[in-house]
Amino acid sequence: MSPRKKTTVDLVIPVYNEAGVVAQTHARIRAAVDALPYVLAFLYVDDGSSDTTLEDLRAIAASDARVRVLSLSRNFGHQAALSAGLDASRADAVVSLDGDGQHPPEMIGQMLDLIAQGYDIVQGQRAEDAQLGRFKKWTSGTFYKILNAVSGTRVLPGAADFRAMSRRAVDALKVMPEYHRFLRGMVSWIGFKSAILPYHQEERKAGVSKYSLGKMVRLASDAVFSFSLMPLYIGLSAGVGFIGLAILQLLWVAYLWLTNQSEQIVPGWSSLMAVLLIASGIVMILLGFVGVYVGYIFQEVKRRPIYLIKEDSGGDK
Ligand code: UDP
Ligand code: MG
Repeated sequence: MSPRKKTTVDLVIPVYNEAGVVAQTHARIRAAVDALPYVLAFLYVDDGSSDTTLEDLRAIAASDARVRVLSLSRNFGHQAALSAGLDASRADAVVSLDGDGQHPPEMIGQMLDLIAQGYDIVQGQRAEDAQLGRFKKWTSGTFYKILNAVSGTRVLPGAADFRAMSRRAVDALKVMPEYHRFLRGMVSWIGFKSAILPYHQEERKAGVSKYSLGKMVRLASDAVFSFSLMPLYIGLSAGVGFIGLAILQLLWVAYLWLTNQSEQIVPGWSSLMAVLLIASGIVMILLGFVGVYVGYIFQEVKRRPIYLIKEDSGGDK
């Protein structure tokens, strides 16, 4: 792909309850990309907003012919909304970014330069100095540490859903039909030539984070359980460990019997209780892991769509 006039680029922007924010974001993105030598289009995905976001988007589309608005039938979540945008795009390259202005659109030109140089994925990485709350910084750091420890697919710490992708990278993602989507992991899994571009994340201009604690936990769970079987192996190794301890215990008792010291075998209530509680606790946790995998498998085999489109302002484009 070369930066000729003909190269088309779609900016995929998922938004959920960003009324009043999205117009600001659009103006800023426009200012940043208007001079770029590509045929650009905006693909906003309204993720079932319950405020006036959709009306805001319609107004933006009415004033800017390059804007296409996709509206989902309900709130399916950030990753599903992003997937809807990627599926709908036909452009030579796609850039995804948040609709709250936290991903600097001024970097889109640089990202697309790298795509033009032959990179398939240009992954935005939140620089360390990001204006993040302590809690978010800590949860995000711990999350990537655990994920990379248990998963064979490496996910860049601080990776964001701010990235540019070539057509073939988008096509590769599109053939991954999984219901539980963690795009940062999926992008890393597909391979291809990738570049990392650190960016400085600003504070949200307006509105509040749409990632509630519940949504964060769900995303983390999708990431871990979709990209790793490690939790199941924890069960296996804990089981082997416990059998090892039992064998040692039996050998010890046998030794005491054989050396005529059997009077030393005093039944200890507290140690018995401790072992019982620890062992049953571990069994319950592991059963929980198995349960989660079974649940994920159940949802995968149902083959439900990842999202449903209610309205598409440019379905024929
Ligand atoms: N978002 C979405 N669906 C959701 C939650 C969030 O489309 O269920 C959008 C949101 O409008 C924003 C982007 O995803 O454009 C990132 O969300 P947010 O800024 O709330 O997350 P944070 O930056 O706090 O991680
Ligand atoms: Mg944000």
